[in-house]
Amino acid sequence: MNPSAPFDANGNILIVGGGLVGASLAIALDAAGCRVTLVEAAAPRADAQPSYDERNLALARATVNGLTAIGVWPLVAAQATPIRHIHVSRAGEFGSARLDAARHGVDALGWTLPARELGAGLLRRLDRCERLVRLAPASLIGLEKHPEGWRAQVKTGQGIQSIDAALLVGADGTESFVRAQLGIDVDTHDYQQTLFVCTVTPERDPAHRAWERFSDEGPIAMLPLAERRCGLVLTVASDQAADVTALDDAGFLALAQQRFGWRLGKLTRPGKRHPYAIRRVAARQLIASRAVLVGNAAQTVHPIGAQGFNLGLRDALTLAELVADAADPGSVALLERYAARRAPDREGTMAMSHDLVRLACMPQPLLAPFRSLALLAYDRVPPLQRALARRGMGFRGEPPRAVLERLP
Ligand SMILES: Cc1cc2nc3c(=O)[nH]c(=O)nc-3n(C[C@H](O)[C@H](O)[C@H](O)COP(=O)(O)OP(=O)(O)OC[C@H]3O[C@@H](n4cnc5c(N)ncnc54)[C@H](O)[C@@H]3O)c2cc1C
Repeated sequence: MNPSAPFDANGNILIVGGGLVGASLAIALDAAGCRVTLVEAAAPRADAQPSYDERNLALARATVNGLTAIGVWPLVAAQATPIRHIHVSRAGEFGSARLDAARHGVDALGWTLPARELGAGLLRRLDRCERLVRLAPASLIGLEKHPEGWRAQVKTGQGIQSIDAALLVGADGTESFVRAQLGIDVDTHDYQQTLFVCTVTPERDPAHRAWERFSDEGPIAMLPLAERRCGLVLTVASDQAADVTALDDAGFLALAQQRFGWRLGKLTRPGKRHPYAIRRVAARQLIASRAVLVGNAAQTVHPIGAQGFNLGLRDALTLAELVADAADPGSVALLERYAARRAPDREGTMAMSHDLVRLACMPQPLLAPFRSLALLAYDRVPPLQRALARRGMGFRGEPPRAVLERLP
């Protein structure tokens, strides 16, 4: 479009960022019959996109319901592993909380799936979208506000293209360019932690069990994967990250074994290690005039609680639900409704992730009995168990209709 042409959005929704959340939103909106343009900086290949990497995602039950509703789950289900039991504990303290799918009347509390497999499934599903306009690789480089929407400048292989939109969606991740252009401030917290992710093969079958274990040195998680392997998530203080990176496989396994213990016997065959520096980044507002943030652009949480994509998909499906029922996708009433509906889930999940990491890893010995009692209470007191299970399965606040099924 000519940059001096009259503004003509015609109901178009522009999604900037086709990562896990932006791609899911584009699929949901396309299925609802909306006019959508998706702009993604990386080429449309699972190996080219930054977050379609080796991380193993723990997907809550609600997320799998949502992915099923938008036709993605059937494309990836064969690569997923059900989580039927979850065990949360702290090194050196008594008490643990256990969640059991059968006890809550479901076949699985969630599933694990490598991000690269989910990314490949999303790309296959995007290929089947009927109206969606996809630009990739293409980057948003500028935005101009008009009374009825936004005019975006997008850099593609063919040059700069102008796109008019009645609603601009920032799904462009933690360092969101859209968020910065909208002038939305963020609150950040540097955990001074680096997370190492890799697969390991334990001596004993994980048998669909996931573990989360906290200690003074930081949290560690073990997720069940296909073929008896596990996805290991090991956190270390950032000032030790270089030393851990330099360890050979035997040294890394020894560290993992010392931190995780011997519940699964000897840990062997570590895969390639990927380090991630961990920061919490929370936008101070979710909406602006004819604009909205979703996924990591809205909030980036500590990965140990396995909440980032689960929360982001609920952002995307709530927005898709509201837009599908509306005449104008960028109206003030719709955006305010979106922000109000997302607030309890967003704030609750962010607070839980943050407090969990901080409280569970604090070395103060005086805290130990209270932590142990809290874990025991969640383990033994039925209403607390039910609340923990419901949240763990991703049913929080007023969930989008697409994730609902049998509420536990
Ligand atoms: C180690 C690790 C483990 C994790 N484990 C879990 C888990 O178990 N469960 C869970 O739910 N979550 C987990 N997460 C979090 C999850 O990966 C993220 O929340 C999720 O990837 C966020 O998706 P997104 O689409 O919002 O952002 P991103 O995946 O970051 O995608 C943003 C996209 O925007 C594109 N982009 C950026 N700028 C522009 C621009 N100017 N123009 C065009 N495109 C642009 C980028 O190329 C990118 O593809 C984990 C995270 C990490 C780091």
